[in-house]
Amino acid sequence: MRFKSFLHYLHFRFKRKGDYWRTLLEQISYENMPLEELRRIQFEKTKRLLIHAYENVPFYRKKFDAAGFNPYKFKSMKQYSSVPVTTKEELRNAGHEQTKAKGIPADRFVSDKTAGSTGKPLFFFKDSAFEVSEACALLREHLRAGVSIGDPCVILRGNPPKGLKQGLFHSTYFYSTKKFEEEKLLDFLSFLKQKRIQIIDGFPSFLAAVAKKMREKGVKLKTKAILAGGEMLFPEQRKLIQEAFSSEVFDRYGAAEGMGIAMECNLHNGLHYDPTRFVVEVLDEKSHETLVDKEGVVCLTNLENYAMPFIRYLMNDRAVLHSGRCSCGLEFPLMSSVKGRVLDALWTRSGKLLDFNMLDPYEHYDMLDGFQMVLRKDGTIEARIVPLGNPEQVKRAVEKELREYLDSSIKLLVKAVDSIPPDRTGKRPCVVVER
Ligand SMILES: [Zn+2]
Repeated sequence: MRFKSFLHYLHFRFKRKGDYWRTLLEQISYENMPLEELRRIQFEKTKRLLIHAYENVPFYRKKFDAAGFNPYKFKSMKQYSSVPVTTKEELRNAGHEQTKAKGIPADRFVSDKTAGSTGKPLFFFKDSAFEVSEACALLREHLRAGVSIGDPCVILRGNPPKGLKQGLFHSTYFYSTKKFEEEKLLDFLSFLKQKRIQIIDGFPSFLAAVAKKMREKGVKLKTKAILAGGEMLFPEQRKLIQEAFSSEVFDRYGAAEGMGIAMECNLHNGLHYDPTRFVVEVLDEKSHETLVDKEGVVCLTNLENYAMPFIRYLMNDRAVLHSGRCSCGLEFPLMSSVKGRVLDALWTRSGKLLDFNMLDPYEHYDMLDGFQMVLRKDGTIEARIVPLGNPEQVKRAVEKELREYLDSSIKLLVKAVDSIPPDRTGKRPCVVVER
């Protein structure tokens, strides 16, 4: 073990008086548990959360009452489908006064927001206890992918993820994809070598674009594992990435609401999710009937966020929940790769990598009520905005922001509109690529 990796391990071992370490060991113990036992823990945690939400969150009290759902009479997961579903719009419209839990110490609220990959963002709160659990679950996924604690890891994003710490005790690095150019490819590869990166975490479209360039230039590199998430991972992309980095690629599913939900095992039969942390369902889009082995919309409950509960929360993603078990030995249930959020990373003619994942127009200003980027066939980028306030002022601010990402050879057109029309599926994706 390298010295820095050892420091990272030590730091994690004793972080928050051993809180992290205890949580990690507990989570690892679930990996060897039979499904019935996991389901029992899931039921207990669900019941506790439902009662907490009813007693402390006005939004859920009203919702449960209106639906005639009584959490005190919740006796088994068979009754779970009678818990009313919640949408992002409902949570946003209700406001924090209604959706934040009472009786939770202020220091447990960690504010966050969803990235703008579809529609408008949601500003929400995470429970600090959930943050601990989330960090441990991520580490557990790394371990499952064959990486050791303290092995250097790089996270590729436009902006650094919230809460990511860098320094002597940390071997997780952040690398900005914001201004990624062809000439910088070699810098990036030497960064990976210099830091002896063993695990890369990034969006499939970005990783695939880099891998393609590596193939063109005849460069290869070896890492232990690649975690690809945030959008759909196509088989072609997986192959490309796998070859360029001589490394196994693991598909991951995470929600914009700050939750890492599921990841493939090394048999790649689907993505496993931990039923002691989440309840994952797939529902029929219209009737909200529960579907198994059939594609529908993902609906989930985060069993660990008490600060602002997400209960039977409808996601914008489509997937299949599998009834079959995986032969890898892990009894965590399986879901398919998520179908949705197909974004693109493209190399422009001048050799700049455009990664639409990193375009988050809501990051810097609260002057928008809607946003959509359209990449036209002729290469022009049309940014449609629904401005709040002075349209000319908003247009100028958006243009300035986008120019930071786009080089001058790209034609940019910022257009103020009254609303963003939904596509065929009823969604309002942030990025549309005309083909
Ligand atoms: Zn498996």
